[in-house]
This record gives sequence, structure tokens and C-alpha cells, in this order.
Amino acid sequence: MVRIRLDSAQHNRVAGVLVGQAIGDALGVPYEFGARIDTGDARMIGGGLGPYAPGEYSDDTQMAVAIARTGLDSGYALYDSIAGSFIAWRREQATDIGNATRAVLDAGLRNGGGAQALWDAAAEFAARTGRAAGNGALMRTGVVALAALDDAELTAEHAANIARLTHADPLAIESAVLWTEAVRVAVVEGRIDLRGGLRLLPDPSRSYWSSAITEAESCEPRHFRRNGFTVTALQASWSSIWHTRHLGVDQVEAGLQTAVGIGHDTDTVAAITGVLLGARYGMSGLPSNWVRHVRGPDVGFRAPQLVAAAFRAASRNDLGRTWPQIPSMLGVPAQTPLAVGLAGDPGVLLGTEADLARVEELGVTAVVSLSRVGRLDVPELIAPENRVEVWLIDSEDPSANAHLEWTLRDVARTVRALREAGERVLLHCVAAHHRTPSVALVYLRLLGIPTHQAIRDIEAAVGHPVSGLLWRTATEMEI
Ligand SMILES: [Mg+2]
Repeated sequence: MVRIRLDSAQHNRVAGVLVGQAIGDALGVPYEFGARIDTGDARMIGGGLGPYAPGEYSDDTQMAVAIARTGLDSGYALYDSIAGSFIAWRREQATDIGNATRAVLDAGLRNGGGAQALWDAAAEFAARTGRAAGNGALMRTGVVALAALDDAELTAEHAANIARLTHADPLAIESAVLWTEAVRVAVVEGRIDLRGGLRLLPDPSRSYWSSAITEAESCEPRHFRRNGFTVTALQASWSSIWHTRHLGVDQVEAGLQTAVGIGHDTDTVAAITGVLLGARYGMSGLPSNWVRHVRGPDVGFRAPQLVAAAFRAASRNDLGRTWPQIPSMLGVPAQTPLAVGLAGDPGVLLGTEADLARVEELGVTAVVSLSRVGRLDVPELIAPENRVEVWLIDSEDPSANAHLEWTLRDVARTVRALREAGERVLLHCVAAHHRTPSVALVYLRLLGIPTHQAIRDIEAAVGHPVSGLLWRTATEMEI
């Protein structure tokens, strides 16, 4: 039995796996098989093959969620439950589906629908058509890494067996093994390494894949435009990551834009790219203006539900983790309400978690939560895309927040985007001691208000002098 105790940084990265995949997928959806766009121009405008709503992810992430929701428990039953989950998805939820996946799931269902029936159907499809090396297994595989985070060999076994439920070609299987191992290492160790997985492949395949990786690193990402094939899809994703590797956490946005800019199977290449970048940088490194818009076929299935699905997939490693599924995270006794507007922008109210109950009377239309909220803490009347939850830890330990300046700047930009859209924003944490004033300071500085003036404004609003690492960072960082 594999079980490791995950630390807070690893939890952040587990949480980023499915959300990272989903934002890549949703960003690529509008351009799938369409005219190529300039790198940097991708927007979550929906459309594509679904057609999809703005922010909606496609079959790639739908299948990854289907895998995650089985809980990835051990043993042969795991594969049977994923087979069942795929078939249920095909019948009830699939908004689009690849040709090989459709043919195999339909044939597998006719033969009884368990894992063995799918493996047999996939092998038969491969033998009959010779077209079983599409990217349809690779596109959904990243989440499989969460099943056995401290066991590379077991991860490879899971990745291979889940890949061949639909794709029997060795290249499809090996691409899934390589990428899943990279996601596992990214979650556990916080670094990106694709070559480390080569040792998990059969010996004769290693030099083939080593050359494929080298080619992805030496050619520009746009070289891999024919990316329906699992090898070139992996190369397109890896090339997007490799060529943006010097950017630190800004790599998430740049890497995904690069992936979509390649063209052709844009949602899949960006989903594959996003799962690894999400695993590396975690929830705290994913642009909140994308995260708030991403959703599944069900309008209520959004980032918090994707995080919960990822935690469920990782539950063998740490069973006690229930947030963000639980109804309320509000403390007892209750905090004192605050909800006071900034002089520099009266449309932004600084508050405590007690102000969540007052959004209607306050006329608030968007809530930016800097502390954890439960399923029911933000009132229904706030539109789903106007609920922003930020992974920001109130700590004096510099290692507590993986990308503190980036996260502060990112959420301040999202507050600005909400204000530009005419929303009235409640910015809150638990007690408005550190997180809320610090984000407010970066926001006012973004607006061009001099730092000393912004400090006076915020300290007057919260009614106390502010100090600590977050505040000092917000005061001194480059805007
Ligand atoms: Mg798709």
C-alpha cells in the first residue's frame, strides 16, 4: 500500500493538476482544427467542436475527471471501474470524442464493458485499423500520477493499463507512461523532468523516445503542427514547455499560449501541457482570471470541483483531505464583519469572512476569497465566474507561498478585471489582518496610486496598522 503524507506545497501541486489541464483545454477549445492564431492571442471564448461555452473544457478533461472520480483505488478493480466510468461518460456526458475512443468504447460495451473487454476491443481496433496511436490516451493521463505518488513503477503500470483501455499501440502507451511520470515528479518534487521516465519504458523504446524529446527541444514548437499522433502531441507539448522554461511561474501562461499557438489539435496539446504545468506550479501558480472561468459540461462543475476530484484521486496518499467539498469553512466564533470601501476605489470592499453573509445588502457582485471557503459559504447570487478563490497562505515563512509576488500580482489583476467589467468586489480573508490588505495594496499600486497613499487608505479602511511578510512584499515588489 502506497501512502505518503503530503506537505502543503505538495497539496498545492495536487490541486493544480486537473485545473491546469482544464484551463489549457478550455483555452485551446475555440481553435481546435481551425485557423492558426498568433501565439498569445488565445482566449477562452468557447465554440469549437462541442460547441462549447466560454471557459468550458472538452473530452480531454472530461475523461481525466472520469478517471479521478473512481478514486484510483488499488488492484484490478481500479481498471474495471475506470472502464465503467469511460463507458458511462461515453453514453451520458461526452460532448465530443475521438474516433478510436468511440470505436473501442462501443465495441467494449458490446463485450460486457469491463477492463478486459476494453483491452480486447482496443487491441482488435489496433490490429484492424493500424490507427491506434492517436493522442487520446495521452490527453487524459496526467491525473493517473496522483494514484501512487511515491512509486514510479506502479505509476507506469497504471498509466499503461489505463492508456490501453482505448489505445493499444505501444507508442500511445509509452507516451502516457512518460507524461504521467513527469506529472508525478512535478507534484512530489516541484520540478519538471521528462527524461526521468525513460527508464520506465521497455529497453528498445528508450532511444526512440530520447530522440523524440531531443527533437522537441531543438525544434520550435510550431514544427509540431501535425499533432493528432501521440508522439507529435507529446513533442508539441514538451516543446511548448521547454521553450518557456526560463520564465518561472510565468511559464504557465506562456507555455499554454505557445501550445495553442501551434495549431491543429489545440485543446489536446494545451491540456497535455497544462496538466504538467499545473502539477509543477500548483493552484497558486495558475492565472486566477482563467481559473475563475473554467467549467465542465455542468455549469456548476468548476475549479473547486476539479480540486476535489484531484484530491480524491490522491486520497490513497493522504486520506484526511476533504476541503473543498465540505459545506462551510467559516470559523467559530464568527469574525466581526468589516466590509469597508477603499478611498482609491470605493467599488472594492475589504472584509472578513463574516461579510460573506452580507453580500446582498452590500450590493456585492463578485467575491475574491483569499482564505478557504466551503461549498456553501459564498451566496448563490454571486455568479460562478465571479467567485475567485486564491491559494494564499498567511505565514511569515517565505517558503509557505511558492510564488508570493506572482500570486499577489495575479489576484490584484483579477480584481482589476472584475472592476473593469463593472463588478462590485468583496475582497476578504478570515479577519482582514494580512492577506486582504496586502492584495488591496498591490491592487491600488496597479491603479497607479502612490504606495504611501495606498498604505494610508488601506490602514484607515481595516482600522489597524498592517505588518508582516505579505504586507512587506506588497509594499516593496515591482508592479
Ligand atoms: Mg478535446
